[in-house]
Amino acid sequence: MLKLDIQMFAVPFRKVSKTRKRMRRSHNALEVPGMVKCPNCGEMIKAHRVCPKCGSYKGKTVVDMTEKEEA
Ligand SMILES: [Zn+2]
Repeated sequence: MLKLDIQMFAVPFRKVSKTRKRMRRSHNALEVPGMVKCPNCGEMIKAHRVCPKCGSYKGKTVVDMTEKEEA
């Protein structure tokens, strides 16, 4: 008559309080890795790489970006 479809699995001994849940999740935020501000144009760029916007690296213009704009 009554079909019992019971599955056994581990059940937490206590309810996790709001505080404990929030403390655990305080480390769960996503973050952008290895991004720095370009010292030349202020754009967020990947660290240790030539800026794709202004073509500068370590304060010098390495790639001439004016060519791109003409094409
Ligand atoms: Zn830049």
